[in-house]
Amino acid sequence: MNKEKAVVVFSGGQDSTTCLFWAKKKFKEVIAVSFDYNQKHKFELECAKDICKKYNVEHHILDLGLLNQLAPNSLTRVDIEVDKETPKDSLPNSFVDGRNMLFLTFVGVFAKQRGINNIITGVSQSDFSGYPDCRDVFIKSLNVTLNLAMDYQFEIHTPLMWINKAQTWELADELEVLDIIKNETLTCYNGIIGDGCGECPACKLRMNGYIEYMKSKEK
Ligand code: ZN
Repeated sequence: MNKEKAVVVFSGGQDSTTCLFWAKKKFKEVIAVSFDYNQKHKFELECAKDICKKYNVEHHILDLGLLNQLAPNSLTRVDIEVDKETPKDSLPNSFVDGRNMLFLTFVGVFAKQRGINNIITGVSQSDFSGYPDCRDVFIKSLNVTLNLAMDYQFEIHTPLMWINKAQTWELADELEVLDIIKNETLTCYNGIIGDGCGECPACKLRMNGYIEYMKSKEK
């Protein structure tokens, strides 16, 4: 067992980049894994690549084009626009069925090949838009399943599980990477780095959290 190494599921967004720096503090060696699932904005992968290069993190991009074949959605299809508002009684159309499950499963296979037990993911149950595979119960269940599937002791870490967006900014600040997260990460569904388009749900959530954290800091 190698407790010193960890693999981070990495998209280059606010959450996973915060997790990446969290992991860099906690583990001796951190590897980032991103997925290419024909997302509309290839820039997301470029952004992930740039962050890893700049901060000296080994980075792998795995092909998961299959995801788009299975479940075309607003993040992958040019002809489907991302919902501006989250619908009241259904999941937003940016939801991709099974995405986190697939990401974590492939990262599990990847990690075991390298003798790594620790997997880090930036999922959060706090201000989630109802994504079922971001819930703590799902992560715990998948952890057990992966252990059984590969006869191996994985430990899935979820540093953001119980914190909201404002607290995620606070964590970034504690890790002394607030400016990096604000300026160099990409959360926007319209593919605009940093503060983003300001219109999509991801930008709104991110900016509201930032404002809330900044206000709490002033007090
Ligand atoms: Zn946006």
